Order: sequence, then structure tokens, then C-alpha cells
Amino acid sequence: MSTTTLSPASVRAALDGDPAGTTTVLTPDDDGYEAARAIEPGGVEWRPAAIVRPVDAAGVARAVRFARDAGASVSVRAGGHSALGLGRDHGALTIDLRSLDSIEVDPDGRTAWAGGGLTAGAYARAVGEHGLVTPFGDTASVGIGGITLAGGLGLLARSHGLTIDSLTGAELVTADGEVVLVDEREPELLWALRGGGGNLGVVTRFRYALHELPTVVGGMLMVPATPESVAGMVEAAAAAPRELTAILTVMIAPPMPFVPAEWHGRGVIMANVCWSGDPETADAGLAPLRAVADRAGGAIVDMIRTGPYSGLLEEAPGGSIVATAGTFLADAVDGEAAAHALAELESSPAMMRAVQLRVLGGAVADVAPDATAYAHRDAGMVGYVMAAGPSAEAVAGYRPWVGALVERLRQRDGAYAAFVPDGDPALARSVYPGATWDRLAAVKRAYDPQNLFRANVNVPPR
Ligand SMILES: Cc1cc2nc3c(=O)[nH]c(=O)nc-3n(C[C@H](O)[C@H](O)[C@H](O)COP(=O)(O)OP(=O)(O)OC[C@H]3O[C@@H](n4cnc5c(N)ncnc54)[C@H](O)[C@@H]3O)c2cc1C
Repeated sequence: MSTTTLSPASVRAALDGDPAGTTTVLTPDDDGYEAARAIEPGGVEWRPAAIVRPVDAAGVARAVRFARDAGASVSVRAGGHSALGLGRDHGALTIDLRSLDSIEVDPDGRTAWAGGGLTAGAYARAVGEHGLVTPFGDTASVGIGGITLAGGLGLLARSHGLTIDSLTGAELVTADGEVVLVDEREPELLWALRGGGGNLGVVTRFRYALHELPTVVGGMLMVPATPESVAGMVEAAAAAPRELTAILTVMIAPPMPFVPAEWHGRGVIMANVCWSGDPETADAGLAPLRAVADRAGGAIVDMIRTGPYSGLLEEAPGGSIVATAGTFLADAVDGEAAAHALAELESSPAMMRAVQLRVLGGAVADVAPDATAYAHRDAGMVGYVMAAGPSAEAVAGYRPWVGALVERLRQRDGAYAAFVPDGDPALARSVYPGATWDRLAAVKRAYDPQNLFRANVNVPPR
């Protein structure tokens, strides 16, 4: 829980009339407070005493100094997609970064500076105009802030690595309210920002490397889910050249217009794939996945197209859906595990339920486990089990089901920060194992000894 309850009046007095006159302050009585605190997916009871929305690093620094002096904890809101990973202490003061959405692209220098409140989709579109990319996740509306600081697993993972593998610097507001430039001259801090979550401060701008990739071949292939097709898709995706990345979601087909009616309510694999090699070679690269589909009776939907990488990033569904989830690491899914997962998905009463398998390797595994604060480089797969429903009450009943399926599929210790449910403190040590934990805790002590930033997968100062 927060150490101090801030009075709305004190926040207003300190920050509403700040010297720049630019920070917006919202307290629970204000119109706009409810909309500003909404996060995706819904159902998280997150009610800070105030939400402040600065427009620059100086405004963020003022808010941080105010919270520190008041003895209040701080949470950071960027894209607002971390309902499952925000942490239990949601902070007395929330710093909303959505107005920090600038982007400067230097195509010749292959570098972009992007505001900490930008979304992955807006970033991908802006750099895509120059035929360039930085790898992000599968969803456009996710904030670059949360996904970058966690690691960043997406459709270019096997070819271009995690988002943090392209993170070359940052502008950071530390717990003492200083604005510091982090680059290779601050190696420990840069190491910690590459996967250490929001533990070190507020990143007001990120600097990324850009890679030339004007077009990719990708999209969604929907395949009938059988134990053989699930195991076969995982195996084919893991054996594919690194130009191919696949995110395989095993689920009960929703009654969406693009799904043929006879498949509604039946088990399918929604394979989101991306071929980032020469488009001419895409058919050969994708052939093993299509062969699995053929053996299962043929693809149900094939939406694989040539186009810009930004076109593969979809908007989150939004709305009032509430979800619970769990995560695991594995290297393979055999027929028996796949059969178990399918039976569980078919019998669960949850409105929506899915097992997502992100097949890694390639460029992710090229980087040494101790080179960044993301330590699980050698895991072949990050998995995610999700159950969703109309209300928090309904969803609470699905937690044991999620937990049991996660344990059945888990093959390795560890967890990915961005998928940790409810910021579960017990899982923080598996996100940051052994030496990673010790090193992160030491950086934390140097930059945030009071643990001002703890609304995250928290590593307390050593
Ligand atoms: C629909 C959906 C799809 C997703 N897809 C993927 C995916 O493909 N790959 C993947 O890796 N993850 C994915 N995620 C997980 C996502 O990366 C994390 O939940 C991430 O934390 C969301 O970032 P955000 O900025 O949108 O969220 P927020 O809730 O705004 O921020 C999350 C946390 O990150 C920290 N933070 C954010 N920005 C900053 C900043 N600038 N400075 C300091 N701290 C900051 C804070 O601790 C904050 O509490 C997905 C999540 C959702 C809901």
C-alpha cells in the first residue's frame, strides 16, 4: 500500500500552477479522472490520489520531487496496458506520460528518439515512413514505455531481437528529481533499463537503433487445433530460419466476422507470423507452418500479406473486458501437453481463454543472459495463459484454472516481466534470477534507495 495518502489540494497547490503552467492535475472529483485512470484490460482497482500529466522532463522531475518530499509513492502510466503487471501498490501519485509523445527520426544515423508516452504503433508508423523498424510487440496501443523497460517480445524477435536490444540510450528522471542522460557512458544504468522495468525512474525519452526493413510478409494464419497441430506448429516455428517469428495463440475461436461460422466455438491456433527476410523467399520460409495446417485439414483463415511491419501491430480490443493471466517459460510443447491444454481450453467456462506460445531463439538467444536485465535468453518459448470475463468477480474464479495450466506447461524456472500477473511480488525473483537480481538491486540502491518507484515488478534496493 502507499505510505502516504496525498490530499488533492496539496497536489494542486504544488503542481497545478507549476512554473511552466503545463502540468494537468486530475483528482477523483475531476471530470476526466475516471477516463484518465482506465487501463487495458479493465477491472484493476487503481485509484491514485492524483494523476498528473506533465508535458516534458522538467514537469516529470517536479512531480517526482513533490512525491518524494511528501513521502508518497509514484506510479507511471505510459500506454496503460499493464493491468496484469502494474504492481499491487499502484502509487499515491500517478505520472501520466501520454503528453510526452514526440518522435525524432534520424534515418541516416539510424537512430530515433521517442517520448516515453508514445505507443508502439505510432512509433512503428513514424519510422516505417523511412523504411525502418525497431522491434516491438504485437499490439499497436501498447506503450513503448512499459514494453521497452520489460524487454519487448514481438514479431521481429528472432530476426532483430528484443526491443531492449535496440535500446541505445534514454533520458531518465531519477528518484531525486534529476534529469540524466543514460547511454554507454552509464553502463550499469543502461544495463538495468534493458529489462529492469520501471524500477530505476521515469524514462521521458528513449533512444533506439533503427533497422532497414521496408516490408515484411506476415499476418494471421488460423489452423485447426489438434494435439498434433499445436505441437507441430511449435516445432516448425522453432526450427524455422530466424527470419521467421511466430506467436501462436491456441484458443476457442470467437464469433468474429473473419472466422467461418462453422469454426465458432472450436479449438484453433491463431498463428501471427512475420517473415522479415527477402519477400521472395517467404513462401519457402512459411512452408513448414502451412504444411502443419494442411495436415490438420487446411488453414481456416490465411491473412498473410506483404506490407510494412507497422501493419502487423493490432489495436488491443479495449472495452470492459477483465482478464487474469499467468506466464511460464518452456522449450517445447509435446502432443500430450498440447492435448491437455486443448481439453482445458474446451472445458473452461471463461468467456475468453487462450494459451499463447511465443517461440523465441534466433537473435534473442544471441545476446548473453547477463548482458541485459532480461535474463531468460536461452528459453525457447515464453508462454501465457489467459482467461477473461465480464467482471472482476467472474474472473477471480478462473485464477486456479490459469495457475494449474501454467504449472502443467512450465518447463523452466523464470518469468517475463511484462506478463507477470498483478505484479506478483513472489514472481519478481523468477523474473530477475540470481545475479541479475543482485545487480539490479545494487543499481536500485544507487538511484532509488527509498523505493519511490515500486508500482512495478519491484526489486527493492539492496
Ligand atoms: C493487449 C496487450 C498486448 C501485449 N502484447 C505484448 C507483446 O506483444 N509483447 C510484449 O513484450 N508485451 C506485450 N504486452 C505486455 C506489455 O508490454 C506490458 O503490459 C507493458 O508494461 C505495457 O506497457 P504500457 O506502457 O502500455 O503500460 P503502462 O501500464 O502505462 O506501464 C506499465 C509499467 O511500466 C512502467 N513504465 C511504463 N513506461 C514507463 C516510463 N516511461 N518510465 C518508467 N516506467 C515506465 C511502469 O512501471 C508502469 O507501471 C501486451 C499487453 C497487452 C495488454
